[in-house]
Amino acid sequence: MRLVLFGAPGSGKGTQAAVLKADLGIPHISTGDLLRAEIKAESELGKKAKAIMDAGQLLSDDIMLGIIEDRLSQPDAKPGFILDGYPRNLAQAAALDEVLARIGQPLDVVIKLEVPNEAIVDRCVVRFEKEHRPDDNPETVKKRLAIYADQTAPVAEFYAKRGKLKVVDGVGELADVTARIKAALNDAVAASA
Ligand code: AMP
Repeated sequence: MRLVLFGAPGSGKGTQAAVLKADLGIPHISTGDLLRAEIKAESELGKKAKAIMDAGQLLSDDIMLGIIEDRLSQPDAKPGFILDGYPRNLAQAAALDEVLARIGQPLDVVIKLEVPNEAIVDRCVVRFEKEHRPDDNPETVKKRLAIYADQTAPVAEFYAKRGKLKVVDGVGELADVTARIKAALNDAVAASA
C-alpha cells in the first residue's frame, strides 16, 4: 500500500500514521520528522532547515525532492509507505508522481484528513505545550495555515482529478478517525481490484 496522508498542520496525520504503520506493516515517512532529525544531528541541512521551519515557511522543492527520493529508495519502503508532509505544493506532487512512475510504484490513494481551522489551532496549542515545537506557537501556526491554504490545499484537487483522493473527517476520537481511514483504504483497494 502506497499512501499519502494529507491535511493541514495539526490535522492528525502523524498520530494516525503511527497507528496505521503498525497495522499495515509499512514505514511512516514524515518529511517534518526527517528534518527535525537533521536539526537534532546539527547537520548542514539541519542548520539550513531550522530557521525556515521555525518561521513556518517551506523548504525549497529541490531540497525536499532529494530527501524524499533518498528515503523512498531505502529497502523498508519497497512494500509500501505512508507519506506525511509531502507533497506540500503542486510542484512537489508532480515531482512525486515522476519519481514513483520511474520506479513503477504509483500511489494507491491519498487520504485527506479534514479538520476545521479552529480545532487545528486548539490542537497546536496543546502540542506546543507538550512538545515545545517552535513552529506550533499560535502566530506561526496562523502562518502555516495560510501557506497550507495557498500552496498545499490545491494538491487535493490534483489527486481528485486522478481519482486518488479520499476525504475523511478528522474530528473525533483517535480510534474513530483510524476506523474511517481504514474504511477509505478498503474502498480504494476494492475500487482498484
Ligand atoms: P510538518 O512536521 O510536516 O508540519 O513539517 C514541519 C516543517 O518542515 C514545515 O512547516 C516546513 O518548514 C518543513 N517541511 C516539511 N515537509 C516539507 C515539504 N514537503 N516541503 C517544504 N517544507 C517542508
